[in-house]
Amino acid sequence: MAMVRQTRQRAAVIEVLQASREHPDASAIHAAVRERLPSVSLGTVYRTLDALVRDGVVVTLERAGQATRYDWREGTAHHHAVCRTCGQIFDVDAAALPGVPSANLPGGFRVTDIHLEFMGVCGDCQASTNQTP
Ligand SMILES: [Zn+2]
Ligand SMILES: [Zn+2]
Repeated sequence: MAMVRQTRQRAAVIEVLQASREHPDASAIHAAVRERLPSVSLGTVYRTLDALVRDGVVVTLERAGQATRYDWREGTAHHHAVCRTCGQIFDVDAAALPGVPSANLPGGFRVTDIHLEFMGVCGDCQASTNQTP
């Protein structure tokens, strides 16, 4: 029953992503899914993630030189704040920010979605840098 198996894998991947606020990469998702479905391969997790991305329920966060991270797309839009030091990705509520002007974009461009990325250093990393050795 390939169809049933596929559905359970998909459900397990979705649950892992919904439960995580860490924006996990595929191997972290694989490790968590295997706790419930021990026979799931990393390839299956990748294929499941690809399908979820195509369906628009999961978004990818790409960083040069790093594994792609995955994010469950919740009902409300959110932006990301990325720590340059530890690589942690924090969710930023879109409602907490002023609207982004979408006028005057070239080529008659119509904005359907805005995703902002704030680069910086998180509080934990600032605290550890401030400590004198
Ligand atoms: Zn940090
Ligand atoms: Zn996020």
